[in-house]
Amino acid sequence: MLGLLGALFGPRVRLPRDNVTRLPRSARKAAKAEIAALQSALDKISALPGVADIKANGRVPRGFYDAVDEMHAAYDAYAAIVRKFLSVDQDAKQPGQPGGTAACYAGPMPVHQVEALAIYRATRSWRDFQSVAKDMGELGELLFNEIQSGHTGKDPEKIRMTGKAVQNGRIALAKNMRPCPFLDEGKQRCRIWEHRPIACRMHYPNGGGDAHRPDNEGYPKQAKAINIRLPVKQQVTMQQLDKRLLLELSPFMYAAMLQMLQLADGSLVQEVGEAPIKMQQDGRVSQRANRNVRHAKKFQKRPKTSKKKRK
Ligand code: SF4
Repeated sequence: MLGLLGALFGPRVRLPRDNVTRLPRSARKAAKAEIAALQSALDKISALPGVADIKANGRVPRGFYDAVDEMHAAYDAYAAIVRKFLSVDQDAKQPGQPGGTAACYAGPMPVHQVEALAIYRATRSWRDFQSVAKDMGELGELLFNEIQSGHTGKDPEKIRMTGKAVQNGRIALAKNMRPCPFLDEGKQRCRIWEHRPIACRMHYPNGGGDAHRPDNEGYPKQAKAINIRLPVKQQVTMQQLDKRLLLELSPFMYAAMLQMLQLADGSLVQEVGEAPIKMQQDGRVSQRANRNVRHAKKFQKRPKTSKKKRK
């Protein structure tokens, strides 16, 4: 009984990624132009014709992926201004950078629908996509089981994303010490750096050292971090956009990637007007034949035909 009460009303332990950082008004004022650019990038995506028909068409509108890149660039510009007003360590390394990858053991969440589409697009043609997807599947299942084990409601489907079961499940997943499948462990770099979600872009671990490693005894309590979230208005716009896309993807990146794979029936999700890309039987993207190699057909000598035959 005491355990249950503690679980319901006890102090909340959060992942460093979930720490709430309040911004001084002066930071928001200084980043006014960047916030406007962010809103304009989001509006641009919302206004793309057919943005609500991606599921039905199996294609995104023309210009969609560039618009998502634009939105991320606008967010980065915003965060660069705001971080000057916060006590972010000078040498703080972000998730996906050498020295900051301890944060890559905690699964990114939330990942917005437009971000999931862009990440899927960037990774689906990787030669090792199948093994990355397999890792995603295992991690997704692990997370689901961890969350379910702490879920006290009757309906396993009805879980509050901000509830304790989800928070504790995510901490347990991090403590499993299985890194994000997009991390290149050898190089200690994020393989989707240009396309990584805002959930990773916003996170600045402070204090360095081992405090951010989930296998550290004091984790997550002793891991201090600054998180630069989207401004409130842009958060609302993003949530509206998430709903408008009608894809119903999970906010957990690993699960969302698998859902994308299912939605796209294993193919790429291309833009309207793009030439279709062929998929091989084993599910890999067909690579274009290199026609400039010595053995290419165009360099092969034609057999000489005899003069008699020509006559
Ligand atoms: S997406 Fe990149 S930065 Fe984010 S957790 Fe994965 S590897 Fe790290």
